[in-house]
Amino acid sequence: MSTEQTKIPQATAKRLPLYYRFLKNLHASGKLRVSSAELSDAVKVDSATIRRDFSYFGALGKKGYGYNVNYLLSFFRKTLDQDEVTKVGLIGVGNLGTALLNYNFLKNNNTKIEVGFDVSPDKVNQKIGDVSVYHMDDLEKVIEENDIQVVILTVPSQHAQTITDRISQSTVKGILNFTPARLTVPPAIRVHHIDLAVELQSLIYFLKHYPADM
Ligand code: ATP
Repeated sequence: MSTEQTKIPQATAKRLPLYYRFLKNLHASGKLRVSSAELSDAVKVDSATIRRDFSYFGALGKKGYGYNVNYLLSFFRKTLDQDEVTKVGLIGVGNLGTALLNYNFLKNNNTKIEVGFDVSPDKVNQKIGDVSVYHMDDLEKVIEENDIQVVILTVPSQHAQTITDRISQSTVKGILNFTPARLTVPPAIRVHHIDLAVELQSLIYFLKHYPADM
């Protein structure tokens, strides 16, 4: 992310990839402008929030005109550093890890899983999709050689911290943690946490207690 990004609130920054993906589709279909109401409908963020978010980018929509799609796209491209591919490694090639390796992230943005790691002899030295799986013994070496910046953790949770400690002095700047473990990291590393079980439980709770308006 560029230095301009530092002025943008974190909640806004988190919505950028969502906006970016939708705007790319709009652009591809030849649309030149978009209203906050249209955007709101597509990305399911209320239009007041969208207007506030976009005002941070200096994109002021005109009444009855909306936003200029090209202007927004070039801003997002610059801000999200999409010109450069971010190199990602995945640790733990089990059911979830395999699904993520097979998922083509490049379709939507410039992110590519370059390497996988596991300890199981069934997985090591295999290729999944077009990604080679290495043994954990070579973790530090392979991360360094491939200049991996982001690591996806899909190992059993009891191994998550030990692995995190091993990569904390490397080229890695971010960890996407799919394990339920809460990780301790040095200040230079950012962790985002995705606990699918918690997300599912939370959705079910909301369905029960806050049913959608019919
Ligand atoms: P599977 O059915 O393939 O075991 P799973 O997702 O149910 O998938 P888990 O026990 O969660 O299995 O393990 C996920 C993956 O992490 C497995 O491929 C396992 O071999 C691998 N793994 C286990 N321990 C480590 C470790 N210390 N370092 C790296 N990978 C590990």
